[in-house]
Amino acid sequence: MAHEVLNGPGSSPDECERPASFQLGNKEGWDTAHVIRMRCPECRLTTRMEPMDHPGQDYAVELRDGTKVGLGVRHCPNEACAQLIFVTYNRQESEHSLLFTAPAETLDFDTTDLPTAVEAAMSEAAVCFSNGCYTAAAIMIRKTLEQVCHDQQITGGTLKTRIEALREKVILPPDLMAGLDALRLLGNDAAHIESQTFSQVGRTEVQVSFDVVKEILKGVYQYSALIASLNNLKKGQP
Ligand SMILES: [Zn+2]
Repeated sequence: MAHEVLNGPGSSPDECERPASFQLGNKEGWDTAHVIRMRCPECRLTTRMEPMDHPGQDYAVELRDGTKVGLGVRHCPNEACAQLIFVTYNRQESEHSLLFTAPAETLDFDTTDLPTAVEAAMSEAAVCFSNGCYTAAAIMIRKTLEQVCHDQQITGGTLKTRIEALREKVILPPDLMAGLDALRLLGNDAAHIESQTFSQVGRTEVQVSFDVVKEILKGVYQYSALIASLNNLKKGQP
């Protein structure tokens, strides 16, 4: 069975919290470095991360719990990016599944037409999530909402009243509109000692919230550009 990467976005919102901790057992020498497929934490392309040399070698190590791992460095082949990535992977499995990367792969979202401050807040939420900092991620999700309101020239009052104003200004499905206020309350719970609304602010709550924000960002910034592109294609047609 493939192991899950201990830091990173994971494959489902229901995974339990995953500690990222490795203790050295035995140094076993060297092992062949191979290409690793993952989404680049920097340029977000899903690509083949290449070893530094061909053929390259990684450190071969046995952890204290008996797991045999490889430790190495890869780089993004996208020349405009060239991100260096430290990788830890399981040597016992034929697919050499990743256990840990630095920097971590993050939750993905579409950055098309996002204002800089909105993209920055959302990116920070994604980085916090990948590193298991769910409270911080929830606060950054709330900050993303605040940045959206600010960008839409909705200022003053509380975030609750600003969200009400955003509802008047932006066309979104009613269920997503209701979700906006839930995101505000999640951020509230994350920032205070006792949760008032959610039973906890954990991995599941934050991943679902992140997905809701992605839809809201599409509605505010991305659908109109998509429709404009479609309309442009129609020009010149009989
Ligand atoms: Zn890259």
